[in-house]
Amino acid sequence: MRILITNDDGVRAPGLYALSRSLQEIGEVRVIAPEREQSAVGHAVTLHKPLRLMPIELPGVNGEVFACNGTPADCVILGRLTGSELPDLVVSGINGGANLAEEVLYSGTVSAAMEAAIQGIPSFAISVASYDEVDFGPAARFARRLAVLLGDFALPDNSFLNVNVPAVPSEQIQGVALTRLGHRAYVNRIDRREDPRGETYYWFSGNPTESDSAPDTDIAAVTANKISITPAHFDLTHYEILDNLNSLLEGLCEW
Ligand code: MN
Repeated sequence: MRILITNDDGVRAPGLYALSRSLQEIGEVRVIAPEREQSAVGHAVTLHKPLRLMPIELPGVNGEVFACNGTPADCVILGRLTGSELPDLVVSGINGGANLAEEVLYSGTVSAAMEAAIQGIPSFAISVASYDEVDFGPAARFARRLAVLLGDFALPDNSFLNVNVPAVPSEQIQGVALTRLGHRAYVNRIDRREDPRGETYYWFSGNPTESDSAPDTDIAAVTANKISITPAHFDLTHYEILDNLNSLLEGLCEW
């Protein structure tokens, strides 16, 4: 199995290192990851500057490793275009910090997995639910098991998996749950400050407000120390209200 690995924390991040070391036991890994942290860049792609792949060494990681001056989505596109063969699987992570609920929309980690789905390559994103220094071992081992299973399991077109692992020792993990995205939003969390020259600047900060952490959500699973797997796709169409908008359309149909 040829596995392309990327992330949004940067090619030197410990989560990517743990993931690469784990996945190379089951396949041929190729790492293309941002040269510096790209957390929360979402699905950005680079159109206005040259992209470069700089070969680097990660001790103990077999296979090619490249630092890229682009985004996580760029890394997946470059991985597809520059390899001698297509990857069989793209794995993005292991991110430091959860990617739950609305966070998937901002996450470079998740966007890389989504880009792989757009490119027709099976993929998953994997994150550990803590920003502190954590042991990525449990998540790395879980990624390896999931990668093996995905080799035999055809995900539907245009879909991928978003995995979140609680930041607790292996023996405290309470199993694996299939989940839907909950809702948590970062709103009204802006620090307004003054720089040394007296000019105002702003800094996003704070914790999210949770509005849906029902038992079937990713938020609830991780809170209960379970590994959360959310199947995801990128069709943002709101099918449930499509029909209900007919009355709106009638009001607009006199063109
Ligand atoms: Mn990150």
